[in-house]
Amino acid sequence: MILTINCGSSSLKYRLFSEDLAAVIASGLIARIGEAGAYCEHKAQGRQAEIHQPIPDQDAAFDIMADNLMHSEFAVIGDPSEITAIGHRAVHGGDVFVASTLVSDEVMAQLRSCIRFAPLHNPANIAGIEECQKKFPGIPNVVVFDTAFHQTMPPEAHVYALPYELYEKHGVRRYGFHGTSCRYVAQAAADMLSRPIEDLSMVVCHLGNGVTIDAVKGGRSVDTSLGFGTFCGVPMGTRAGEFDPAIIFHLVKEMGMTIEEVEAICYKKSGLLGVSGVSNDMREVEKRAAEGDTRCALALEIFVYHIRKTIGAYAAAMNGLDALVFTAGIGENCATVRSKVCAGLGVLGVQIDEGINGMVRDGHPNISSAEARVATLVVPTDEERMIAIDTVDLLH
Ligand code: ADP
Repeated sequence: MILTINCGSSSLKYRLFSEDLAAVIASGLIARIGEAGAYCEHKAQGRQAEIHQPIPDQDAAFDIMADNLMHSEFAVIGDPSEITAIGHRAVHGGDVFVASTLVSDEVMAQLRSCIRFAPLHNPANIAGIEECQKKFPGIPNVVVFDTAFHQTMPPEAHVYALPYELYEKHGVRRYGFHGTSCRYVAQAAADMLSRPIEDLSMVVCHLGNGVTIDAVKGGRSVDTSLGFGTFCGVPMGTRAGEFDPAIIFHLVKEMGMTIEEVEAICYKKSGLLGVSGVSNDMREVEKRAAEGDTRCALALEIFVYHIRKTIGAYAAAMNGLDALVFTAGIGENCATVRSKVCAGLGVLGVQIDEGINGMVRDGHPNISSAEARVATLVVPTDEERMIAIDTVDLLH
């Protein structure tokens, strides 16, 4: 069996796959670790259990996971040796990791050297690997990076026009995120179209709480909307997306804000929430916009405008566009956003069938109209499965 782990600072997601990845045997989410109201949801054998109890730290969370998998009434593992390998999600691999890799002492040291790029995320990812090494000794661990897929970006896309020493000596460059999702979705889209991914120029729109627009040419990421950090590109739930950095100087020098206050604005108080003043949740923004709330309507228009503009830029960067792919919470579920994004893309050959766009949940992933020159698809993302696929590949 293959176990996948997605360990955040206050959450742990796990999924247990059969060896051939054909079946999900068990899965779980442990949330609010170290906080009041900690809980665990565990699914196995067609049933679901919920546990509410104090979960002080990651160590306790991994104990609960191990207990759920091996000792509870839902136990699906008789002995830890039935786990062949464990795949871990890591947010930032810097420019050290260009692909998923088998964990060794050297890899752990390199991973620690990448903490400076993702101080909020990488420590939790590393802690997750260490927990597994402790609780499942001898079982190989594989680490899969959100940034690795984007390491194929050419220099003109990943080097900022800042003093070159910042890039060369300090790693200041565009890294990009959501790479595991984009890679999975791009391959799934090529499979759906029955075309080799090597022949396709695609734009993948990963639209969740975080948003990545990714240009994928021949199966390789050639440009991506997130950068050194995770608030540039297009607006997101609470993150600003692109804005003039001169505003940061203005907020600090003229308005007397601290850099921490500015950081909170960029990451937590902007995007859909900042403009609407109501919510970072697209469902709420969409509902209120339809009811006539002008700020929610504006938040929605800004969101789709930046996505549309970025798709156009990436079609130019790739000198063509064969497929446009929507994924993640908003991309998979929000017909309004898909419709508004595509409405201005006729010039590129994108044309969707509004009727089919409304029927995606009924199993109609190809929403293009008959005349469209570009295939527009809705593809559910599955980062855990991508991690499991990489884990199996590396074992063999
Ligand atoms: P995360 O980045 O946290 O993994 P998700 O991929 O789960 O995020 O996406 C969360 C977003 O998806 C939220 O903005 C939520 O409102 C939106 N979303 C989920 N379902 C729908 C829906 N039916 N219609 C519109 N938006 C939706």
